[in-house]
Amino acid sequence: MTASTLDDLLAEGVSGRTVLVRSDLNVPLSQGVVGDDGRIRASLPVLEKLAAAGAKVLVTAHLGRPKGEPNPEFSLAPVAARMNELSRVTVKRAEDLVAAAAQASAEALEPGEILLLENVRFDPRETSKDDEARSELAGDLADLAGTSGAFVNDAFGAVHRKHASVFDIAAKLPAYQGDLVAAELEVLKTLTQSPERPYTVVLGGSKVSDKIAVIENLIPKADSVIIGGGMVFTLAKAIMGYGIGKSLVETDLLTDESVTGLLELAKRHSTKILFPTDMVMASRFAADAEHEVLPLESLESGTHGAEALGLDIGPESAALFAAEIARSKTVFWNGPMGVFEMEAFAKGTEAVARALTESPGFTVVGGGDSAAAVRALGFDESEFGHISTGGGASLEYLEGKNLPGIDALGAA
Ligand code: ADP
Ligand code: MG
Repeated sequence: MTASTLDDLLAEGVSGRTVLVRSDLNVPLSQGVVGDDGRIRASLPVLEKLAAAGAKVLVTAHLGRPKGEPNPEFSLAPVAARMNELSRVTVKRAEDLVAAAAQASAEALEPGEILLLENVRFDPRETSKDDEARSELAGDLADLAGTSGAFVNDAFGAVHRKHASVFDIAAKLPAYQGDLVAAELEVLKTLTQSPERPYTVVLGGSKVSDKIAVIENLIPKADSVIIGGGMVFTLAKAIMGYGIGKSLVETDLLTDESVTGLLELAKRHSTKILFPTDMVMASRFAADAEHEVLPLESLESGTHGAEALGLDIGPESAALFAAEIARSKTVFWNGPMGVFEMEAFAKGTEAVARALTESPGFTVVGGGDSAAAVRALGFDESEFGHISTGGGASLEYLEGKNLPGIDALGAA
């Protein structure tokens, strides 16, 4: 069974109907102001399309991890403000998610208007393990949309969650796949089913535990797998037995077969694994820390000996990775090469990002921090083939897992 799409819904006609849209508006906030607004910009087209077709558009979304109760720190108010700056359509805001204020605001909504409900995770039923509880919240959300209501899931970044507003709601209202979800799935299908070769996967970020299943799943599919970021140290210690100083390490994974067997797995599939050859070792975890470039096999041989910690890949590695990317026809990149938030340790991430922009092949950036990094480093989004809005969701898809929010829409 294939999922019904937004176009199917528009063809049925939405004028005067209330359409509940689950969007992914989970953006970084600092001091109540939206930082990287990529997810907001990616969500607006579907909302505006529905509004233009005369729907009353109700938007439900989460922000951060409030503990199932209202908390002003996680209010969607700053997000509504940013949406209003970015959109031609006025975005109204409800004070709560399904209670009295939301009902009143939803009832007052006119065709062509957008109403953003308050953070759906303020309600403990949203993320509850109890099917009954989630189903009840989904029912409350569906009631806001009324008898002629419809549901559109456009929250790609949340489709790996079995939550009320993502999963259970699809059983309460006629459900449709939003354009953003459709576009993201299309790209992921290309990456897993028919990538043009050579296909290179670049993985970085902080934790091996987050990415090891993806690495294992992509080794059989890719021609090359490049490894950078904080992950390097656990792997270098476990596989090569190198000293890594005070660098990031996941001790419990050092003897894990998924880590120690990585090269063997790659060999079986004739997949090339590229490790960095040099790293930037710093005296401490700080933007102004003293630092120097050292070979991967002797990271403890510098000024700060075994006290040093690695915060970026070195220039030789960056050049090696860039050359591999340059000869690839498909590149999937997830996870920064270093602590890009600090200028001194952003060079590796910048080099990989630049290599993607210069590649004539199809390039995909996945992962919240990676997407934020390319924008923070001043790259133009249009220079990449696709920048995904979903971190965990893309990774779970690439791991071969089912995505509850997609399954609920009846998508194959
Ligand atoms: P994404 O969100 O793109 O999937 P991750 O969340 O896995 O990426 O990782 C991003 C984080 O990894 C960044 O905050 C970055 O500072 C951190 N990181 C990268 N390299 C290192 C390193 N060598 N040591 C510590 N942290 C690192
Ligand atoms: Mg992240």
